[in-house]
Amino acid sequence: MFPYPFRYFAPTTPEEAFGVLEQYGDEAKILAGGQSLLPMMKLRLAAPGVLIDINGISEWNRITEDAHALTQGSLIRHSHWEHTHHIRIPLLYETAGHIADPLVRNRGTVGGSLAHADPAADWGASLLALKAQVHVQSRVRERWIALRDFFIDTFVTVLEPQEIVTAIQIPLASETDFTGARYLKLERKVGDFAVVGVAVTCSFNDQGIVTEAGIGLAAVGASPLSASGAESLLINHPLTSEVIQEAAERAAEECDPQSDRRGSEEYKRAMVRVFVKRGLRAIQADWENRLKKPA
Ligand SMILES: Cc1cc2nc3c(=O)[nH]c(=O)nc-3n(C[C@H](O)[C@H](O)[C@H](O)COP(=O)(O)OP(=O)(O)OC[C@H]3O[C@@H](n4cnc5c(N)ncnc54)[C@H](O)[C@@H]3O)c2cc1C
Repeated sequence: MFPYPFRYFAPTTPEEAFGVLEQYGDEAKILAGGQSLLPMMKLRLAAPGVLIDINGISEWNRITEDAHALTQGSLIRHSHWEHTHHIRIPLLYETAGHIADPLVRNRGTVGGSLAHADPAADWGASLLALKAQVHVQSRVRERWIALRDFFIDTFVTVLEPQEIVTAIQIPLASETDFTGARYLKLERKVGDFAVVGVAVTCSFNDQGIVTEAGIGLAAVGASPLSASGAESLLINHPLTSEVIQEAAERAAEECDPQSDRRGSEEYKRAMVRVFVKRGLRAIQADWENRLKKPA
């Protein structure tokens, strides 16, 4: 099906984009990678009168880093992280290859994925695990929002109609710590959305004590979730079998899956338990292997 008619704007500066958004308000939609919006328009599930294509705004397509954080513009594509292994944030690389297929990964953006707020979005889970902050801006104000406070419900965020996601910031673990991560995804076929997705990341100090931990969950709640109770069980402990077991149990309690064609509530909860355990064990093995390597 063809989409309903719409007007198209392609601003090249943030000011221009904010101006058009202010002018057209609710009638307008931001177009980033188009990998969620355009299919919805073609199916006529969305019918914006105005599209504001932000792909020409180079400021929102940059990555910067200082000693404490990495900041990526909202237009960074999924595929960037598929080909970039950041040693202090391995979860980005671990996640990217699980999203859809190469065509979607080449166009879809990290900011678009967060703004779309699909409960099964892989970035939602991973960036929650990474304690990311989202920078949003309109013509008149800008603010940083912890991703934990950004998602409200299925396809609903705290974004106001005149706000645009411009950047995502991820705190960096201490340079001397070792960080391991895994993204585990149950899908009906390769490239599908998650039936259950689990993002796990841990940083260890020299003694093998966990200094930072993150667990994010996809497709087991109305929005992507963080298993903050499970995370707190990991901090300040070595990753023993007992600690891993407890954290896996807690994450399974913290999620809120619904039974549907893809699986029962019990099945999805059990998969969260299995994936958290599997992810943490793999990270612990990475840490032990690192100790065996000569410095
Ligand atoms: C076949 C297929 C399979 C897929 N499989 C997966 C999968 O396995 N896992 C997964 O996580 N995703 C999957 N996706 C979704 C994909 O990751 C999308 O790229 C992503 O959800 C949206 O990003 P986008 O840049 O394409 O956003 P768009 O489609 O351009 O926009 C999506 C929504 O967000 C709004 N928006 C976009 N950018 C901004 C911004 N900067 N500020 C404010 N609002 C904004 C738009 O107005 C729109 O409402 C799949 C998509 C397809 C087509």
